[in-house]
Amino acid sequence: MWEQIRANQRRSFFLIAGMSILLVGCGFTFAEVFAPGAGPIGLLIAAGLLAIQLLIYAAAGQSVLLQGLGARELPREECPRLFNIVEEMQLASGLPVAPKVYLIDDPAPNAFAFGRKPEQSGVAVTSGLLSRLNRDQLQGVIAHELGHIKNRDTRFLMLAAVLLASVALLSEIFWRMLRSGGRAGRRSSARGGGQAMLIILAIAILLAIFGPIGARLLYFACSRKREYLADAASAQFTRYPEGLAGALETIATTNQPMARVNKTALPMFIVHPLRPLRGGHSIFATHPPIDERIGILRAMGNASFHAYDTAMRQLRGRSAIGAHTLGAEQTQPEIRSAAAEGPVMTAHDAALGTYATAGYRAITCGCGIAMKIPPTYPKPTIRCMRCGTAHSVGRRPRTIS
Ligand SMILES: [Zn+2]
Repeated sequence: MWEQIRANQRRSFFLIAGMSILLVGCGFTFAEVFAPGAGPIGLLIAAGLLAIQLLIYAAAGQSVLLQGLGARELPREECPRLFNIVEEMQLASGLPVAPKVYLIDDPAPNAFAFGRKPEQSGVAVTSGLLSRLNRDQLQGVIAHELGHIKNRDTRFLMLAAVLLASVALLSEIFWRMLRSGGRAGRRSSARGGGQAMLIILAIAILLAIFGPIGARLLYFACSRKREYLADAASAQFTRYPEGLAGALETIATTNQPMARVNKTALPMFIVHPLRPLRGGHSIFATHPPIDERIGILRAMGNASFHAYDTAMRQLRGRSAIGAHTLGAEQTQPEIRSAAAEGPVMTAHDAALGTYATAGYRAITCGCGIAMKIPPTYPKPTIRCMRCGTAHSVGRRPRTIS
């Protein structure tokens, strides 16, 4: 695993370096088009733009991302069984601390992980995931997400997303200036140096068109490869590949798009949030095909990286797991038997969670009736509609049965 992380970091470094060169290259060329000789200034502007984006990301990236997705931190009381699973998988993965847990109120089953460091990481799951998956399946998904945190995929994806956004922003500025100013055209028709100017203009246009596309394709290529590795890690942490396989199958048959998704966050989810079945080997795919992922997990002979590698070679003819990881693997643990437990949260619990997000208070009367009090309820008390007991609505902390 550690060798794999190192190999991943090397690959990430080259990718990030490649995207950075693309970014400053865009800055240089675009500036040359509008003011010949101003290339170095454009380069500085591009670097400054990246620095600002990185600062924003470091300061607020996580909260912006979570807010955009409508995620809220889940208190332990609301779903203790989910916290048990997260802690179990933290131990199995060897992460120093358990990630924070966030809930997105969305019936579409999905999940993602985020965080620059394992110590500051978190996993977010949708209410649809909690109500649809049984315990083994949910454990498989959580283990997959912890696999991403352990591989440092979460940090890498955020960094790549920031670079991608910077390249896209520079290209956007270039197009706007070209459309409104057209100074490049005037200069190129001027005497002398006209031809050199045309060449620079051509390069700039090519960069403006293919820069953002190229950056996006690099981003997707890395996220596809990392999905396989996180799947293999899930099988190893849980010793039960069928858990994740069953989860992916449920997600695929549900085939429901999420309501609100930030575009740059797409590759971070366990399956494509808008088109769960969309995945493939094409360069435009953010995720590998879901049926192939299920097939590999189900073909595993034991719960090791070796078994994943063998299954993947049989099904795809190639592997995503580095030779170092396979060489360093000491044991080949047997696959455990199923735990056979239902969902950790019922659809009813999940609905109560949705009400809580909307500012409703849930009060459970002694007679067993659960009441949902809207935030606009005007009186300080409410009577139970069954037994007539009065309950104070005021500052009463919400309890969810
Ligand atoms: Zn994933």
